Amino acid sequence: MKLVNTPEEILKNQNNGDIEFVENMKKEHPTTLVELNEPGHTNQWCPGCGDFGILFAIKKAIVTLGIDPSNVVVVSGIGCSSKLPHYIKTFGVESLHGRALPVATGVKLANKDLHVIVVGGDGDGYGIGMGHLMHAMRRNINLTYIVHNNETYGLTKGQTSPTAAKGTKSVSTPNGSIETAVNPIALALTGGATYIAKGFAGDIEGLSNLIAKGMLHSGFAIIDVAQPCVSYNPKMSYQWLQENICKVEELSGYDMKNKIWSLTLSIEKKEQKIPIGIYYHSDTDRSAYLDELPEDKELALVKQSIENIDIEKLIDEYN
Ligand code: SF4
Repeated sequence: MKLVNTPEEILKNQNNGDIEFVENMKKEHPTTLVELNEPGHTNQWCPGCGDFGILFAIKKAIVTLGIDPSNVVVVSGIGCSSKLPHYIKTFGVESLHGRALPVATGVKLANKDLHVIVVGGDGDGYGIGMGHLMHAMRRNINLTYIVHNNETYGLTKGQTSPTAAKGTKSVSTPNGSIETAVNPIALALTGGATYIAKGFAGDIEGLSNLIAKGMLHSGFAIIDVAQPCVSYNPKMSYQWLQENICKVEELSGYDMKNKIWSLTLSIEKKEQKIPIGIYYHSDTDRSAYLDELPEDKELALVKQSIENIDIEKLIDEYN
């Protein structure tokens, strides 16, 4: 099933500056999937896990955009999906549970020329990492955040996660969860993210397009991905998801610049299926964090000379 635009269609929609940028990158840094596929670590995910689809979609996005892998940093928290930086040959950091976004923010602030991709599970991002997510979104910091949303804690063997529906039975809620699930799209729309999309791990082509467009976006991009956990969440199987998704852009009234329309869709949940695609994308509603930083306007911080910076006075103050 063709779910969203092809990379060519995506690139056609970019402004001329972006097309030129991508074309130049392709010439300067011919990237191949083979390069990205040699991370030197043995994959430990369960066979059939949806993490594989997301990993491949990320690699495909990097190749499509022609980005040199040495200019990419993948930052994760803790969880099954957070092992991802080990399985792709870019730079990477597997940080602390729920702390991927502040680490990634530090990387991007230090070197704005890097493409910083953040990955993690729904427990990592919408549970313990929720506070960091809200602040990353309100800052509109230039990161691409991909959430592997399988509605369970897979690494610790299947506890109810923040996105699991009320009534979900698991080892941690044997009588059914009494909590209302987090609504990632509504959260992102109200939190200030300026590129918001929903993908499906079984639709690699469509997901890689969503990721590629998120990587080209200037500001905070979040892509929430419906991902099967074949070991601990049998309900969200590939087949069930395939039968229960639809394209958001085919719904009546769709306009990716209309936040209220997307918010109504995500809150009212009148649509029986799970709409995937771009819910919101605006380059103009407000500036990205790095565009507001005078220190970062010209040269990346790591590339600036520190020869004339004197910290003696500061040290003296604390002596
Ligand atoms: Fe994937 Fe679930 Fe296995 Fe973790 S436990 S690797 S999420 S299938």
